[in-house]
Amino acid sequence: MIEIKNLHVGVEDKEILRGVTLDFELWKNYCVLWKNGSGKSTLSSFLMWFPKYKHISGSVSLQGENLLDMDPEERSKEGLFLSFQNVPEIKGIRLSEYLRTIYNIHLKQNNPDVQELSPFIFKRFIKKHLESLHIDEKFLDRDLNVGFSGWEKRKIEILQMKLIWPKYIILDEIDSGLDLDAFRAVAELLQSLSSDENSLIIITHYFKILDYIKVDKVYVMKDGELKKQGGPELAKEISESGFSEI
Ligand code: ADP
Ligand code: MG
Repeated sequence: MIEIKNLHVGVEDKEILRGVTLDFELWKNYCVLWKNGSGKSTLSSFLMWFPKYKHISGSVSLQGENLLDMDPEERSKEGLFLSFQNVPEIKGIRLSEYLRTIYNIHLKQNNPDVQELSPFIFKRFIKKHLESLHIDEKFLDRDLNVGFSGWEKRKIEILQMKLIWPKYIILDEIDSGLDLDAFRAVAELLQSLSSDENSLIIITHYFKILDYIKVDKVYVMKDGELKKQGGPELAKEISESGFSEI
């Protein structure tokens, strides 16, 4: 479980999260509703670790351990995964090497004695995943996300999920940069990855995603704080009444 208690986080000298208290259980899916410009990326990025976001006070624990003491690599090894609002493009890192590295790190995390996959074996191993996502093998030789379309970037993120099976998948406005067909395809793929052993945490102001992904709990945020919580019906209520009614 991720437990966030009375969390205050700032950017520059502005306080954005002003006492957030939320928890995420492993086998449930969540929707955190938040209107634009109000802290979605702040919370998502802070949980994964970004120097720009400064911890002011409050706590975050992951399976009872202090998350804020962990560096980003440890957070990833412990099962945290962030799907970025704007997926970064990284020149000089080949997609195949990136995927092989993260795969091997997580493989060793589960079993320290296991043999890492060589580039040759990894290429064979990953083929079925590429096929299932309709990703051309040629992509493996390109730099990570450089020049990829929004849809291709999201598919690469889903490919990563299929390789490392993260426990907590934080999705920061995944509709960003997608047309409606691609959005639907991404949402359906995410729903197909959902299981009792992971938690999809959808952070959004866009209600459409709830047509495709079954969530167990909805949190409604305003002014950097949790204002309401409830079941999926709460999202429907807010989509009709608007955020200003909260
Ligand atoms: P959301 O993702 O919900 O749209 P963000 O978490 O990105 O919102 O931003 C929350 C607030 O923090 C916004 O008011 C934004 O302008 C502000 N903010 C983000 N980055 C910076 C920065 N580098 N300096 C000052 N304010 C910032
Ligand atoms: Mg954002």
